[in-house]
Amino acid sequence: MSAPLTAEQRQIRDAVREVCSDYPGEYWRNLDEVQGYPTEFVRALTQGGWLAALIPEQYGGSGLGILEASLIMEAINASGGNAAACHAQMYIMDVVTRRGTEQQKQRFLPALASGHLRLQAFGVTEPTTGSDTTQLRTRAERRGDRYVVHGQKVFTSRLEHSDLMLLLVRTTPIDEVQKRTHGLSILLVDLAEAAGNGIEVRPLRTMINHHTCELFLDGLEVPAANLIGEEGEGFRALLDGLNAERILIAAECIGDGDWFIRKACGYARERVVFARPIGQNQGIQFPLSQAYAHTRAADLMRFRAAGLYDDGQPCGPQANMAKLLAADASWEAANACLQTHGGYGFAADYDVERKFRETRLYQVAPVSTNLILAYIAEKVLGLPRSY
Ligand SMILES: Cc1cc2nc3c(=O)[nH]c(=O)nc-3n(C[C@H](O)[C@H](O)[C@H](O)COP(=O)(O)OP(=O)(O)OC[C@H]3O[C@@H](n4cnc5c(N)ncnc54)[C@H](O)[C@@H]3O)c2cc1C
Repeated sequence: MSAPLTAEQRQIRDAVREVCSDYPGEYWRNLDEVQGYPTEFVRALTQGGWLAALIPEQYGGSGLGILEASLIMEAINASGGNAAACHAQMYIMDVVTRRGTEQQKQRFLPALASGHLRLQAFGVTEPTTGSDTTQLRTRAERRGDRYVVHGQKVFTSRLEHSDLMLLLVRTTPIDEVQKRTHGLSILLVDLAEAAGNGIEVRPLRTMINHHTCELFLDGLEVPAANLIGEEGEGFRALLDGLNAERILIAAECIGDGDWFIRKACGYARERVVFARPIGQNQGIQFPLSQAYAHTRAADLMRFRAAGLYDDGQPCGPQANMAKLLAADASWEAANACLQTHGGYGFAADYDVERKFRETRLYQVAPVSTNLILAYIAEKVLGLPRSY
C-alpha cells in the first residue's frame, strides 16, 4: 500500500532490511538499558555503503537521491531499530556536498564514504535561544587563518561518536546585519583536534537512548579552511540541510508507524480475551486503521517532498508537512499499539515502550510541531509571521 518503488529502490530497502535482521529488538533493548551506542550496527551500515548514499560517486559514495536515503532510514526504524544513531551523517552530508569547496569535498567525502571519518554531530540548538535559531549566541571571530569560537550548545547528539561536527555560529553580530538570517556561518570542526583545546563536552541523559551532550566552547580554534560555504551565508546553507533532515525524519516516523501497526496487529490476532481475539473488537481495530491511513498519507507527502528535492526544486512546505504528518502518525500508531498491548505494552521485553519513547521525540526535535505550523501559516497561507 506504500507508494510504488522502482526495482532499484526495492533492492535498497530489502538489502537494508537484511542488515537490520542481524540486530533484533533485544540488541536495541539492551543498548537502551545501558544508554549504549549501536557501534556494530553503525559499522555494518557503513561497511555496506548505506551511510554514503548521498555522497556523489566520484567521491566514493553511491550518488543516490534523498528518496533512496529516506528508504534506508525508514527500513531501520521499521525493523524495530533506531536510525537516530546515524541519521545525521545523511543530512549533514548534503550541506557539505552542496556547499563545500572542491578541496573540502576531496578532503572529507572519500574518508566519510569509506567510514574512516564519521560526521554525525550537528551543533545548532543553544540553551538560551532554543527554536529561535537566528538569535544564537555562539560567536566565531576570524583571526588570521583561524576562527576563534566562544559559546554554548545543548542537545548536540552523537558528539562522542563522531569525528567531525557541523557547527552553526554567528560571525557578524546581529545588530550589524540587515536581516537576522545574515551573519551566520557553518564550521566543520575536527573533534580530535578540538579535544582539550577550548571544548568541553558533558553528556546529557534523556528519556531515550540518544547520546546527546552539552557543549561548552571557550576559545576553540577552527581553521578558516573549514568554513563551509560563504561566511555570513550559513543560514541559507543550513536550509538545504534542513529540508533533507525533515524528509529523512519523516521517513523514520513512517518506519516507526509501520512497526507499531504490524506489532499491534500481530498481538491483536493472537491475544484471546473473552474467548475471542482482541483484534475482533472494533475498539481495537479502528485506532489501528486510523493510524495506518494517516501513516500512508504521510508516506505520500514524503514521496512528494523527496521528488521535489531530488529534482532540485523548492520543497520547504512539502518537507515540513511530511515531517509534521509523519510525526503525528507515528505517535498515533504508538498510542494505538501500546493500548492494544494492555499491560504488556509497558513491559520492556515487548519493545513497545522503548519505541513509544523514541518516536515521541519527533514532535519536538529536530523542529517542533508548533514551529512547523507557524511556518505553514506564514509561508503557505500568507498569514502574518508569528514567531
Ligand atoms: C533527544 C534530543 C536530541 C537532539 N539533538 C539535537 C542535535 O543533534 N543538534 C541540535 O542542534 N539540536 C538537537 N536537539 C534540539 C532540538 O532541535 C530542540 O529541542 C528543538 O528544536 C526545540 O528547541 P527547544 O528545546 O529549545 O525548545 P523551545 O524553543 O524552548 O520551545 C519550547 C516549546 O515552546 C514552543 N514554542 C516556542 N516558540 C513558539 C512560538 N513562537 N509559537 C508556538 N510555540 C512555540 C515549541 O514548539 C516547544 O514546544 C535535540 C533535542 C532532543 C530532545
